[in-house]
Amino acid sequence: MKIGVLALQGAFIEHSKMLARLGVKAVDVRLPHQLADLDGLIIPGGESTTIGKLASAYGLVKPLRQFAAAKPTWGTCAGMIFLAKDIGSQQQPILGSMDIAVDRNAFGRQIDSFETDLAIAELGALPFHAVFIRAPVVKAVASSVAVLARLADGRIVAVRQQRLLATAFHPELTDDLRLHEYFCGIVKCTIKPHA
Ligand code: GLN
Repeated sequence: MKIGVLALQGAFIEHSKMLARLGVKAVDVRLPHQLADLDGLIIPGGESTTIGKLASAYGLVKPLRQFAAAKPTWGTCAGMIFLAKDIGSQQQPILGSMDIAVDRNAFGRQIDSFETDLAIAELGALPFHAVFIRAPVVKAVASSVAVLARLADGRIVAVRQQRLLATAFHPELTDDLRLHEYFCGIVKCTIKPHA
């Protein structure tokens, strides 16, 4: 199993380290041909406008769209924005792969960064400590999208649509490997056994 981490900008090194700790081969992706033999892809947090600009400059938008239409892809924070179909009126390149509407910088300036424990049933009974940094929230989901986690006020911060996963927070900035393990599980299920 080989998982790529989009390495244009943001917290890509931290994602690779989490995958390495799980014994999974991780490769940095900066050019379209590097997507060819991957089983899954992580789009990290950072700044979605910058990720979008660089992806356009490197001719990655269409290849990434095709990849997300076929293989497991997980966006964290800016990566969630990049994966979303609807980000409001803002003009920036996005993949538009996931049937979610996202509100960028949903927490405003006062509490633009915070940490909180989330209940995520898919990961078991133990809460998941989540780090939010100028994070988005999911405003609306299509019926094919499963909500995995909400804040105490009900706002949606983790979703899954078949092989697509999106989290508003940064699981690569904590020690908890469970979400990376969960994504690797999705990847494993979609790998076709070689003849
Ligand atoms: N606010 C950033 C954006 O709009 C996302 C922040 C993050 O990825 N930590 O892209």
